[in-house]
Amino acid sequence: MYAEEDYLMLSGIQHFAFCRRQWAMIHIEQQWAENYQTTAGELMHKKAHDEGSFEKRGDLLIVRGLRISSHELGLSGQCDVVEFHQDQHGIELFGYDRTWNPIPVEYKHGSPKENNSDELQLCAQAICLEEMFQVRIPDGYLYYGENRRRSHVEFTDELRDDVQKAAKEMHALFQRGYTPNVKPTKQCKACSLESLCIPKLQKTIKVRKYIEQNIKAND
Ligand code: SF4
Repeated sequence: MYAEEDYLMLSGIQHFAFCRRQWAMIHIEQQWAENYQTTAGELMHKKAHDEGSFEKRGDLLIVRGLRISSHELGLSGQCDVVEFHQDQHGIELFGYDRTWNPIPVEYKHGSPKENNSDELQLCAQAICLEEMFQVRIPDGYLYYGENRRRSHVEFTDELRDDVQKAAKEMHALFQRGYTPNVKPTKQCKACSLESLCIPKLQKTIKVRKYIEQNIKAND
C-alpha cells in the first residue's frame, strides 16, 4: 500500500513498457520532447477526456476524464472514458437508480502496438476502478484512431501480474532516482526522446578502449 504522496503517474506505465529508460527520463528526470505521435495523441486525449462530462444513453452512462487512483499500485491518473453498463450484479451510483458495471475505454491515436503497453495501461485503470468501486472488472476496450475500431482487452491474471510488477519496478527506480542505461532497439526510431537520449552514442567506442587500441597500434 502506497501513501498518496508517493503515487506515480498511471499513464507512465505505457512509457515504462515501451522503454524503461524513456520512462525514467520523463518521470524521474522530467525531460520531455514532442513529436508528431505525442502531439496527435495529446489532441485525441483532450477530445476524449472532456473532463467530468457525464452522458446517459438508456442503459449506458458515459463518464469522461474520471480521476482514478490505487493505493495498491501507488498510481493515479485519469480515464479517457468509463462506461457504466446497467447490470443487476453491478454497483450503486450516487444519484442513479439501479446498479451499474464500469468498463474502462482508452483512446489511442495510432494503431495497435507490437508490445502490450496499451493493455497494461488499461488494466492498471481497471485495477484502480476495482479498488475505488469494490467491483471486479473482467475487461475493457482500446479504441484506435487509425482504424477507428475498438479492441477488446481481457484482464487476465497474467496481465494483472504484469501491471503489479511494472508498478513495483517503477517505484523502485523512482526511489533510487535511477535512469537505466541505453539499450538501443528498433523502437528508438519511434521514440520522442531519441534526440535527448542519443542511443547512437552507445555504439561509439569507449574512451579507454580507444586509447588502448591507439597505443597498441603505435607501439
Ligand atoms: S531512444 Fe531508445 S533507448 Fe533511448 S529512451 Fe528512446 S527507446 Fe529508450
